[in-house]
Amino acid sequence: MSPPLTIIEFGYEDLVEKARAIAHAGGRGHLHTTVPGCLITASARRAIVLEATDEGAVYAFFDERPIEERAKPLAILLHGADSVPGEADELLPACAAVNRMADRMRLGKGHFHILNPVCLVNPHRGRWTILFEDAELGVLESVSDERPLADIRLVERLIYA
Ligand SMILES: [Zn+2]
Ligand SMILES: [Zn+2]
Repeated sequence: MSPPLTIIEFGYEDLVEKARAIAHAGGRGHLHTTVPGCLITASARRAIVLEATDEGAVYAFFDERPIEERAKPLAILLHGADSVPGEADELLPACAAVNRMADRMRLGKGHFHILNPVCLVNPHRGRWTILFEDAELGVLESVSDERPLADIRLVERLIYA
């Protein structure tokens, strides 16, 4: 599957329930939050996208309003409380490419995705990709073999800010 993903649309409560079921079963699943026009959904609405890796299925809740706050409980279910960093957490320096993307985001020029090795959106399956959809520059990528923790921390902080 390459983006846009084939998505099964869920209500918010059903999506939370799905995340809870995956977490309870010890299954693999991860989230994306998307904005209108995002390559993941190709939708005019925002979405919380849940990839249920073991099922090979993708579920999403769509809405017009910002959804980051509503994504937090699902992120905690699937990725643990550490996935939503606190303001006090110390940041290690991110790599130069991701810092450049962060600067673009602060200018309002685009948005981030963190793509893990099994992510269906990841063009470099088996590796980690930090992807930035830039309104002017197109898709920017930073690819690494190991989980790029410092980059992820910076991106998560920007996403949930
Ligand atoms: Zn996107
Ligand atoms: Zn994914």
